Amino acid sequence: MMPQDNASLTNGDETRTHEAAGECARQRKIIHIDMDAFYASVEQRDNPELRGKPVAVGGSRERGVVAAASYEARKFGVRSAMPSVTAKRQCPDLIFVNPRFDAYKAVSLQIREIFAEYTHLIEPLSLDEAYLDVTDNLKGIATATEIAMEIRAKIRAETSLTASAGISYNKFLAKLASDHRKPDGFFVITPQMGPAFVEALPVGKFHGVGPATTAKMNKLGIETGLDLRAQSMAFLQQHFGKAGAFYYWIARGVDDRPVLANRIRKSVGAENTFAADLFTFEAARDELLPIIDKVWGHCESTGTRGRTVTLKIKYADFQQITRSQSLRGAIEGRTALEETSLDLLRAQFPMKKGIRLLGISLSGLSLAGAVGAGQLPLGI
Ligand SMILES: [Mg+2]
Repeated sequence: MMPQDNASLTNGDETRTHEAAGECARQRKIIHIDMDAFYASVEQRDNPELRGKPVAVGGSRERGVVAAASYEARKFGVRSAMPSVTAKRQCPDLIFVNPRFDAYKAVSLQIREIFAEYTHLIEPLSLDEAYLDVTDNLKGIATATEIAMEIRAKIRAETSLTASAGISYNKFLAKLASDHRKPDGFFVITPQMGPAFVEALPVGKFHGVGPATTAKMNKLGIETGLDLRAQSMAFLQQHFGKAGAFYYWIARGVDDRPVLANRIRKSVGAENTFAADLFTFEAARDELLPIIDKVWGHCESTGTRGRTVTLKIKYADFQQITRSQSLRGAIEGRTALEETSLDLLRAQFPMKKGIRLLGISLSGLSLAGAVGAGQLPLGI
């Protein structure tokens, strides 16, 4: 193992601090908590008839997509983001359930309250996932493993749902670890294990390396963490720009991104693909309203506000356009979001082609009543 594996690394650059050889100034303790098959598990919890059965949350219509699949459905190869048609073919007995975001948000708030008993440094990634920095935890518990066990037990007791936990010395490895013993499991990656753990994994499994980057890496002969580690910093920066340094260090199990409480996302959005193309303003408006509800629901539940509204339209021929409007200040209510969104939509009519997909996103974000919470993490 390389001596600098435990060293801390300032966010996104190469400066490191060493104490004695192989020792870092202060080892961080990071937990990544991830609810198991979240939406599907909530549905099975609330409807006993669904228990033990293959369930997909999402639309069953022709162009619907699976948002979450129960473990019974996963046995048949059903995965989230899979077209519903494909899912049904893989698993003919698959039961489709419409999403109930209010129910998922309620559970999300419950688990965040549990996290908050242990630390203020909570960075949610979605409704069912968060990083916790427990280096200085509020209960003075000695090990992150013990905290993770308590959190998982409380989640089970209070929500009747299971969560998996990954425990490590940085965010990158904690996230990999939570995936390692799913469902209802936990896994610890120690500083001694970190580099070897990364080595064996295909790069496509790395959080922060998306499908396009994976394809590009594979083309360059980089299939695994070990292949990635064999590349020089210069090579990676030449091919991947700013993200090159991030890849260089994660291949060594090094990631010094801090856990950012109240992290500000760049945008929040929602979109929907329709079973039949839309031709009239009225039809498009009716489909846009639930999308606006979803976006605003997210703003409400997270305290996020934004000032730029972007409408996305994908036509039947797959041509795509976006139209944006920025308001002077943050949008403070659903009505303002709806008015701006419908103005953008109305301006596109009359339309020559059918509409296949509509989306609304909100950017220029801030937190309601808060000042900026620092920079976004690199490489995601
Ligand atoms: Mg999950």
